[in-house]
Amino acid sequence: MYPILQVRWTIILRMAPEPWIACSGCGGPKPFRSSGKLRLNANGKKLDAWLIYRCTSCGKTWNRPLVERQNLRDIDPGTLEALQTNDPGFIRFHAFDLQGLRLKASRIDQSTGIAVVKETIGTVQRALMLEIGLVVPGVASLRLDACERTAAVSIAAVSAARERQTYRQSGEKGRAAKSAAGRHADLP
Ligand SMILES: [Zn+2]
Repeated sequence: MYPILQVRWTIILRMAPEPWIACSGCGGPKPFRSSGKLRLNANGKKLDAWLIYRCTSCGKTWNRPLVERQNLRDIDPGTLEALQTNDPGFIRFHAFDLQGLRLKASRIDQSTGIAVVKETIGTVQRALMLEIGLVVPGVASLRLDACERTAAVSIAAVSAARERQTYRQSGEKGRAAKSAAGRHADLP
């Protein structure tokens, strides 16, 4: 069994999808971007809630319905609290909910820009294998080739470090081998 270095990468899409909506300001369909803000309207016991979008060209708003004329007591308490507190996780979930957006827009622009948060799980001396666990929170769709490109870069870095390690081990023995293994542990 080879010593395995385990890492966890959390993949975060930088930009929410942008639905194309008929914009009354521009006089035609334009991509709209989530403002990250909710609007609520309680009418008696019924609640409406919208996620506010803005036209990327003129700034005009589009209210995307999330809750439509629902009885307050039928709404899950967690959802109600998220709505009332403008919960960022709740808003992000809906902003990235492609299926929900497809009900409102036939064209949706998706950014492929991602941020990767990399963590090393435990430490392994002189790891010979790298195990990458990918976590993609709250996202319905992500092109995996973007992740694979990032993974390829990291795997190349591991190979390069291994070559350095082999070279140093044969050249300088003990102390150098130890420092190479140390570099290994914080590689990804
Ligand atoms: Zn517009």
